[in-house]
Amino acid sequence: MSDVPSTTPAPGTDLSTGPVEDDLDAIEGAEDLDDVAVDTRELPDPDGPAPSVVVFDIGEVLIDESRVWAIWSGLLGVSPLTFAAVLGAAIAQGGDHLDVFPHIAPNVDWEDFLDEHERRYGGFHEEDLYTDVLPCLTELRDLGFRVIIAGNQPAIRTEQLRALDLPQELIITSAELGAGKPDEAFFTGLFRAGELDDPTDVLYVGDRVDNDVLPATAFGMRTCWLRRGPWGHLQELPDDVEPDLVLDGLGELPLLLSEWRG
Ligand SMILES: [Mg+2]
Repeated sequence: MSDVPSTTPAPGTDLSTGPVEDDLDAIEGAEDLDDVAVDTRELPDPDGPAPSVVVFDIGEVLIDESRVWAIWSGLLGVSPLTFAAVLGAAIAQGGDHLDVFPHIAPNVDWEDFLDEHERRYGGFHEEDLYTDVLPCLTELRDLGFRVIIAGNQPAIRTEQLRALDLPQELIITSAELGAGKPDEAFFTGLFRAGELDDPTDVLYVGDRVDNDVLPATAFGMRTCWLRRGPWGHLQELPDDVEPDLVLDGLGELPLLLSEWRG
């Protein structure tokens, strides 16, 4: 017999706890979370004028990077679970994906695998887009917000991203700007390329505290911390930094921005 205590309630136990139970029933009965009615009174309520420009980071904001890591795990001969666990530990210790390779493949130069990784990856595919991206960008454009995409990406990804034909007026990457986040030069280049002038009129949406929320805040922009992907789940905010919005998906962003604009 197992020593693990059972959490299964005795037959006939009444699990109903009132409104919370009703909410859970509604969530379980929905096709997905986008079908759950949102009580706007529960949504964040930022101060100050609403921004008219929304700039989206790329990795783990628009693009689900699961395939990137799955292919690396296959190339290095470990399970996706092992790769993900070591990546998570590296992020939790303040490192990043480059810190994974010495643990998993200490005797190989991971850069020798780059070409084969790219061959298997085959660039961004439509299936790599998070499912809430197209509806969100479309709705923001319909509501009159300017939509820009700007993130750290190698040159090879820039054209692949443009080929996805997302609703946007500008796609600009670190490779084109010659500077990457969190460097201020990235944001200076973004503002020049997008002909932006007032940082308080621009919302930057990113998944990372170190690369997105902190440098965008320092630049004077409004920020939305998107808590998805490994960094979004593991990183923590410093006590003195408060993003204007903290979301776990893009589904509610058009509604929030439209309510913020009033
Ligand atoms: Mg990102």
